[in-house]
Amino acid sequence: MAKKYKGPAIGIDLGTTYSCVAVWHGQNNRAEIIHNDQGNRTTPSFVAFTDSQRLIGDAAKNQAASNPANTIFDAKRLIGRKYSDPVIQNDIQLWPFKVVAGKDDKPEITVKYKGKEKCFCAEEISSMVLTKMREIAEKFLGSTVENAVVTVPAYFNDSQRKATKDAGAIAGLNVIRIINEPTAAALAYGLQKRANCVEERNIFIFDLGGGTFDVSVLTIKNNLFDVKATAGDTHLGGEDFDNRMVDHFVKEFKKKHNKDLSGNPRALRRLRSACERAKRTLSFDTEATIDIDALFEGIDFQSAITRAKFEQLNLDLFEKCIKTVESCLIDSQINKISVDDIVLVGGSSRIPKIQQLLQDFFMWKELCFSINPDEAVAYGAAVQASLLCEDKGSSLNLVLRDVTPLSLGKSIRGDAMSVVIPRNTSVPVKRTKVFVTTKDDKSFMSVKVYEGERLKASENNLLGKFNLSIPPAPRGDIPVKVCFCIDVDGILNVSANEETSGNEKDISITSEKGRLSTAEIERMIQEAENFKVEDMKFMKKVKAVNDLDDYLYNMRKVMKDDSVTSMLKPIDKMKINSAMMKGKQLIDSKQDQETFTFVDFQKELENIFESAMKKINRGYSDEESDSDS
Ligand code: ADP
Ligand code: MG
Repeated sequence: MAKKYKGPAIGIDLGTTYSCVAVWHGQNNRAEIIHNDQGNRTTPSFVAFTDSQRLIGDAAKNQAASNPANTIFDAKRLIGRKYSDPVIQNDIQLWPFKVVAGKDDKPEITVKYKGKEKCFCAEEISSMVLTKMREIAEKFLGSTVENAVVTVPAYFNDSQRKATKDAGAIAGLNVIRIINEPTAAALAYGLQKRANCVEERNIFIFDLGGGTFDVSVLTIKNNLFDVKATAGDTHLGGEDFDNRMVDHFVKEFKKKHNKDLSGNPRALRRLRSACERAKRTLSFDTEATIDIDALFEGIDFQSAITRAKFEQLNLDLFEKCIKTVESCLIDSQINKISVDDIVLVGGSSRIPKIQQLLQDFFMWKELCFSINPDEAVAYGAAVQASLLCEDKGSSLNLVLRDVTPLSLGKSIRGDAMSVVIPRNTSVPVKRTKVFVTTKDDKSFMSVKVYEGERLKASENNLLGKFNLSIPPAPRGDIPVKVCFCIDVDGILNVSANEETSGNEKDISITSEKGRLSTAEIERMIQEAENFKVEDMKFMKKVKAVNDLDDYLYNMRKVMKDDSVTSMLKPIDKMKINSAMMKGKQLIDSKQDQETFTFVDFQKELENIFESAMKKINRGYSDEESDSDS
């Protein structure tokens, strides 16, 4: 029996573009999607840094156009990847923020915060988004939350999964399970629409979001959710469609005005936002307009795009999606005619052309629109969280069996890949394979662990390597048992042992993939704490300034009232006016002032004002008592 966690546990869909948080509600027997402070059920995965503060979510996204270089998004596209990765090199061209190569080729994002340059790795940015999601949940639940299930694209590799777990740790969250996004969506679909399904049903999940694309085939029967195969692309989604449209309009602008705006981050950001809006419009309308004031060098830009043009710009990407659908079905050994439900997940699954291609592929079978494509993943994560927790109100009873997305193996002679765990094997799993030396009297065996589908090992993704000492012997005489073990989070551990000598070793993947060390995570947790303190300090100052401003406003109102001012003593009037002036000056120079200045000054102001007012009142009451007598 798996360990049960105490306290509430939440499900977080940490998306490339939007994140969503949910919690299982035992009494109602359903998950609740939690809205953020803006009242939105999804939160932009954006973090921004300004001269005075750090912003996360809607607040960060809303100021993106005016602060493009310090507004970070797409951290999920960076996480667990190397700087030199061609995918990253390509993205860097499009991002308005600066990414540089850090230690071990790890990408680092450079921003200006409070006037100073600061570097963050993708895990840190993601941890800030996770912290925000956690706070949203804590506010809703009215209690602290420590445990969370976090989702990742099914096609995320080992280092991307680990890096996501690290992000959780930096956010102070205990990530009790990492689950695959399409599997989470299947849980949501199964529970909401196919509860207690007795007959076996084949479900196809099509999850196209802002930055990633995942498909999975599952069977559901008697509360067992059994993933058969998964496939995807960790770099394909709505943002790519936006980029195509941006390129299109950059060209159009050049043609119309003979000016190239592509070097101007602010103009690009504004154009990109307009394109994203137009793209959404094109999901229910056949034409969309773009209208941006003073886009570049004071020139207003107005244009339009038809749905047909949008489809033409992206057709190759849409078709790529369908190819992935096909290969996933082949892997699952389930014929497309036997698929019972095709479930659409992710914001980009709303694109009509994609729906049409998908429906054509499945031979005009109806698609399921019955679950919310933006919320299904978080819903499923909350279900999984509840399954792992001591929740007495919950009557949930289901079993989830996922698969590993990529083959895992070891390189052997001639740089060949010897697969130990083939892709789409159910996890958790433990497989052992015996290897022997290929040269006489070798003193060690080298174990290099790779993931991927290429036959040539070095074409795959190297996860880690180590050498195991062995007693010298003729080649082929010493068997070494290499054991690959994938845990429930889909994370791999490799060990090797040689029996006669008793030599044993575990893999250390840290060095190969630039994973954060415990010490680095500790440091980042400390930094995250500092940020919290700074954010609180900032909010305190904002409150002090606002309080003073409100007070001054009310004072001004009173001072405009002749019936009051006529009663004031001239000296008091002077004192009040000069204090009000000083107050205004303080507010105007708020950047240079400390919080206590505002608090102290307000007290002073209150004293001056109230004592002057008291004198008036006393005057009144004196008069009254006079007349009484
Ligand atoms: P992720 O999980 O990757 O953050 P989401 O599933 O939240 O992504 O989907 C966000 C993406 O969906 C964005 O690229 C957004 O532009 C796109 N999107 C949202 N609504 C629509 C729509 N009506 N038509 C087309 N694309 C949409
Ligand atoms: Mg998503």
